Amino acid sequence: MASSLTSPCAACKCLRRKCQPECVFAPYFPPDQPKKFANVHKVFGASNVSKLLNELHPHQREDAVNSLAYEADMRLRDPVYGCVGVISLLQHQLRQLQMDLTYAKAELLKYQNHQSLGDSLISCCGGGVCRDHLYHHQSIPVIRGFDVNNSYDNNGGGVGMNMSVDDSPTTIDPS
Ligand SMILES: [Zn+2]
Repeated sequence: MASSLTSPCAACKCLRRKCQPECVFAPYFPPDQPKKFANVHKVFGASNVSKLLNELHPHQREDAVNSLAYEADMRLRDPVYGCVGVISLLQHQLRQLQMDLTYAKAELLKYQNHQSLGDSLISCCGGGVCRDHLYHHQSIPVIRGFDVNNSYDNNGGGVGMNMSVDDSPTTIDPS
């Protein structure tokens, strides 16, 4: 514990200087992360980073250091594009996904329109109101009509009796 507290920060160790208590690098470049400062120093230069940190409010410095470390790491991995390569790749993916989403929404709308058309067809034919659709599905109402008549004839014996009773006066009247 005591040795880690007294050991210089990664920046001062890299720059081979004494780490002062007011060292601007110490809070952000701990001695156990030497690569973080080495990358930032290689790309931006220690004096530039020091200047930048001194110009910022203390509460902004950690974000700035993390940003510099990321940019430096990406610049060393990709000397041509750095983090811009990743940004443009992500922007390309974003555009692609937005196009896919637009296409998927359009497809969904097509199916929804088709579905609502199907629903209106069913309700129309079920109700038996629309003559245009009855024309196309004539067999269904005809069969239903026969079924209704048969059920009355077979099961409704009383109805048949009543009808014959009602019919008999009508047959009697002409005769
Ligand atoms: Zn230091």
